[in-house]
Amino acid sequence: MRQPDAPGRRAAVFVGHDIYRRAAYGTMHPLAIPRVESVVDLCHVLDWFGSGEYRTSPQASEAELAGFHDAAYVRALREAAHAGRVDHATRERYGIGTMENPVFPGLFERAATSVGGSILAAEIALSGSIAFHPAGGTHHGRRDRASGFCYFNDPVFAIRRLHQGGCQRVFYVDLDAHHGDGVEIAFAADARVHTLSIHEAGRWPYTGDLADTAGGRACNLPVPRDFADAELRILLEDVVLPLAERLAPDALVLTCGGDALAGDPLTRMALSNVALWDAVEALVPLAPRVVVLGGGGYNPWTLTRYWTGLWARLSGRTIPDGLSDAAQQVLRQLHCELVEEEDVRDEWLTTLADAPNDAPARAQIAALRDQARARLRLAPRGTPVARHAPGEARAADDGAAAVTPEDRGGCTQ
Ligand SMILES: [Zn+2]
Repeated sequence: MRQPDAPGRRAAVFVGHDIYRRAAYGTMHPLAIPRVESVVDLCHVLDWFGSGEYRTSPQASEAELAGFHDAAYVRALREAAHAGRVDHATRERYGIGTMENPVFPGLFERAATSVGGSILAAEIALSGSIAFHPAGGTHHGRRDRASGFCYFNDPVFAIRRLHQGGCQRVFYVDLDAHHGDGVEIAFAADARVHTLSIHEAGRWPYTGDLADTAGGRACNLPVPRDFADAELRILLEDVVLPLAERLAPDALVLTCGGDALAGDPLTRMALSNVALWDAVEALVPLAPRVVVLGGGGYNPWTLTRYWTGLWARLSGRTIPDGLSDAAQQVLRQLHCELVEEEDVRDEWLTTLADAPNDAPARAQIAALRDQARARLRLAPRGTPVARHAPGEARAADDGAAAVTPEDRGGCTQ
């Protein structure tokens, strides 16, 4: 059921492609599970794609890919994917043909399609709608190297397209369980981009310490195991939202990997999907252009429920308490080598929304919050901070130049 559109509510567009239905990553890889296609199937069963709400991703051309990636790397990836093998030198040089980043049939087209989808998502955002591209979020990809299951770096392309459309202040927020290192590095020298990453401490790629600020344009919030809903709310309300309000971005790009959810086999964070939906929903109004990407996530049940519900939230639909038999069927046919059958919880098959993880917030989260606020020179807790709607001048008490409405929303194409 679609809720009546609230005045001024932005439309949302889902960017997908059937290429994600093809087998990929071989057999023993954590990404060799149904992901985007299950979200699409579940949204179809729920009748959650209205007219114009689903768009098929184009495939980025090699010329487009070389706009960020090293042209020799793009060529090497295409040749390796089409040959189905790599030589030793290519493996060493580019990190492809490894356990982490295997070569498999359709690899190049799939990776280029995720870049094309993020470019399209940026164009949708520039036109004023909220874009959701769950196949995006390959945030570890480097200019000349595959890394962490990522071959290209599609968030970089979304941000570049927003720049081309006139957006001068892009805020990239990464809620995946892993540090968004590739995006941070790509824009470390670009004053138009600020990045923020909340990720599990001590987890690969072992970067993204609190002290890593990329010269002042990155905020990294490494969180302990079992990071739960109340703790996310603290960081959101006391760090992420105040920073977003100060930056007054004209575009927001979010990476929403599902590996921060409880039940993910590769990480130990413990968030409910409701806490993540709430976080995204709190961020969206803070910029006139919004691109929401996917990311990691290795439990197909929790991932499908998270991204399907995220689409509901972004597109103004009500999430039902329980799922119909047909909708449950989409979840029941999922399979994953990394999750034991007896560990598949009944609610992963019958509902979309998790019960909240209401573990109390730990003192170390308050300490992290305070340290981050000090680094960012956000006003001490308890200082009244004026809340501003997007487009209004931001508070003058943060030491930054005020932004006038005329400065905002200047990106139009
Ligand atoms: Zn991840």
